Amino acid sequence: ALERLERGSIALVDKTGTLTEGRPELADILPAEGFEARELRQLAAALEQNSEHPLAGAIVAGARKRNIAPAPVSGFRSTPAGGVAGTVAGRAVKVGNLDFARNDSAAGLRLLEGAAAKLQEEGKTAVFVAVDGVPAGVLAVADPIKETTAEALAELRSLGLRIIMLTGDNRRTAAFVADRLDLDGVHAEFDPAAKAAHVAKMRSEGFKAAMAGDGINDAPALGEAEVGIAMGTGTDVAIQSAGITLVSGDLRGIAKAIRLGRATLHNIRQNLAFAFLYNVLGIPVAAGALYPLFGLLLSPILAGAAMSLSSVSVIANALRLRWVRL
Ligand code: ADP
Ligand code: MG
Repeated sequence: ALERLERGSIALVDKTGTLTEGRPELADILPAEGFEARELRQLAAALEQNSEHPLAGAIVAGARKRNIAPAPVSGFRSTPAGGVAGTVAGRAVKVGNLDFARNDSAAGLRLLEGAAAKLQEEGKTAVFVAVDGVPAGVLAVADPIKETTAEALAELRSLGLRIIMLTGDNRRTAAFVADRLDLDGVHAEFDPAAKAAHVAKMRSEGFKAAMAGDGINDAPALGEAEVGIAMGTGTDVAIQSAGITLVSGDLRGIAKAIRLGRATLHNIRQNLAFAFLYNVLGIPVAAGALYPLFGLLLSPILAGAAMSLSSVSVIANALRLRWVRL
């Protein structure tokens, strides 16, 4: 499928795992009035143990590092591209993006927005915590841009692809990443449906669109794309929804796979030409086309040899793919 991504096609990429390391770390904690950093870590980690989001891993690891034992949780709920909620030690806790944590409670989270904006401008993801409908604080999670990303994007660009990031993360954090990677476009605060709708829109405009992602939140978009590419380091749902899985989770694999796809298609065309040529030359001679003028007929021995030679040349040509530089 990848060879269909000719020049002018679009590569849509999710921010996490793809572009960034995908191994985020808890970097800052800003407790609101009346809350303590330790309490915030504990409440958030308790909920996040039940989530498979990369942000969750960072928050759980952050608490474990400080030997904070996660409290038991009841009524756990998870909202893709939103966050997690549940009851921890009798308190109603929500952990997620601003809209999610504020929803039905904690209107005062707005007060924390200024502090959060500063963290976001540093490229971090701000995770808001609300406890019993009261803003409890912000956790900042850092997920650095992968060292190999710039090279991977340059390779994709050299193959004629335009690169656009789709992310559920907030605008400021997304802009930080997009600026540093000099992307052709960025769409932030996209939930799973918005990601899928965007892929559908690009295709309806006539673009061939590949989508690369790692999360549950990417699965609908992966299914919608001409070519869905799951990061092998990502979730099972993403892998099931995609046509292609990059086992290593390295974006450079996409450029490699496209080059292999193109070389394979080129090779198939050559082989068709070979086969066609053998037949165009051989069949008329065998049918006696040269007999009236030159008295020439194709002996069955030569015809048999030509028959197998055509297979040998096609196979030999196909084997050249082993030496294609990817
Ligand atoms: P992306 O598209 O970049 O992979 P997601 O769609 O998974 O991001 O998430 C978008 C936003 O939703 C995150 O930046 C975060 O604010 C919030 N979020 C999602 N899941 C969680 C979670 N388990 N814990 C905290 N926040 C979450
Ligand atoms: Mg993701």
